[in-house]
Amino acid sequence: MGGAGLGLAAGCAVLTCAIAAVMVGHRVRSRRRWGRAVALVREFEEACATSVGRLRQVVDAMAVEMHAGLASEGGSKLRMLLTFIDNLPDGSEEGTYYALDLGGTNFRVLQIQFSGKGSMILTHRVQRQPISQELMTGTREELFNFIASTLKQFVQREDDGIDQIPDVRKDLGFTFSFPVRQLSVSSGVLIKWTKGFSIKDAVGKDVAQCLNEAMLKTGLNMRVVALVNDTVGTLALGHYYDVDTVAAVIIGTGTNACYLERTDAIIKYQGLLTNSGDMVVNMEWGNFWSSHLPRTPYDISLDDESPNRNDQGFEKMISGMYLGEIVRRVLHRMAEESDIFPDAVQNLSVPFVLRTPLMAAMHEDDSPDLREVGRILEDHLKISGVSLKARRLLVRVCDIVTRRAARLAAAGIVGILKKIGRDGSAGVASGRTKGKPRRTVVAVEGGLYVGYSMFRDYLNEAVAEILGEEVAPYVCLRVCEDGSGTGAAVLAAAYSSNR
Ligand code: ADP
Ligand code: MG
Repeated sequence: MGGAGLGLAAGCAVLTCAIAAVMVGHRVRSRRRWGRAVALVREFEEACATSVGRLRQVVDAMAVEMHAGLASEGGSKLRMLLTFIDNLPDGSEEGTYYALDLGGTNFRVLQIQFSGKGSMILTHRVQRQPISQELMTGTREELFNFIASTLKQFVQREDDGIDQIPDVRKDLGFTFSFPVRQLSVSSGVLIKWTKGFSIKDAVGKDVAQCLNEAMLKTGLNMRVVALVNDTVGTLALGHYYDVDTVAAVIIGTGTNACYLERTDAIIKYQGLLTNSGDMVVNMEWGNFWSSHLPRTPYDISLDDESPNRNDQGFEKMISGMYLGEIVRRVLHRMAEESDIFPDAVQNLSVPFVLRTPLMAAMHEDDSPDLREVGRILEDHLKISGVSLKARRLLVRVCDIVTRRAARLAAAGIVGILKKIGRDGSAGVASGRTKGKPRRTVVAVEGGLYVGYSMFRDYLNEAVAEILGEEVAPYVCLRVCEDGSGTGAAVLAAAYSSNR
């Protein structure tokens, strides 16, 4: 071989070596990047850990905060608002009643006929009406006039035949799912708007009175007899079906809970007298906070960038509005620090692009090749070419977020049971009769709990795990759909002057 040939061969060898080195380097880097993605998920999982020991600390913290919120106004992040509801429906309510539901995804008007015995509903009519952006941010008068005229049209359409005495004033249950300082069962002052509503001249006003005035103006002979929020409606409906129901929890876009408390435990209102000796307390538990909650850097940045920083801390870890967003934040960091989601950094940087129902659909994809995950990534996030193992890692992130949310909500529920002595922890003093715990029902409502079966399973499982096998069989979580509509109507029946 001549010198030139030798040089060429040597050159080829150098080139081959260089290519091989580049390939090995690429593989090592890519493995390292994959390793980085796995490490991020592992770190996140550890930070989200909810051992039963930690959950019990959350249970205790919830019970302590409930005590503090009942002891003094502003004594806790839990507002523990009075509702003046002292008697819950028991299935004997009778007649046709109306309800309005404002504060959920839709505004609704309902007409419901109760049979008078055996917890039976004879007819149930509903009309849904979107509330425009203009109404949500306009004036108090515009909003309540719109509600009253929608109700009037509904009554005129549905009334014939059912109402024998048309001139008698009709009673209305009004579910208004915003923080309200209640003045009586049928009146209350709006503390602040949430969920995108912002009607400045309504804050500090009695919303039932606003509605009564608007109804009078439209010539509708109707009056608010029960002003409640959606959790109270849910508790009422739960109790209508099952008198062992003592608390209600909503886990939908947001989260909240209420329960039946002894009036003598409501220390901040000395001398509060009710016929039953009890009163429903609206906890506003979305604002619960405890240092025992497993908080991650993703939760902190979500909170920092939210319009209500330092508020609704419990809700931001639990409810439907936020779960998809927490997942998105983790995926975004993974996209930035690894190459497992090719070219996805930009698309994953948009807050709230990953909505919770889509996240749930990915989590619940049980196809062996995670086809649904791939489809959702492509169709909704415009991210393609994600490998199967990366899709598996993504599902694991969804699982971590949902499991933590469900288990924290479970700890909250057991916290309420502990406060009212139904968790079995205090033996005979805790409502046990003849050594046996009392049967206890918690009504649960909300799209996240009802529509997301893995969330529901995790929650139910955690309640049983925290309570232990001796007490768990006595505690039942019961789905109670439409507490905010039907529940308000049954409360109108229970508090009707026509009863
Ligand atoms: P609202 O809270 O507005 O009264 P819902 O109780 O119906 O309404 O809850 C709706 C919320 O529940 C949605 O915003 C979504 O976050 C969540 N959700 C509804 N369906 C599902 C589902 N199938 N999987 C996961 N989350 C769901
Ligand atoms: Mg709702």
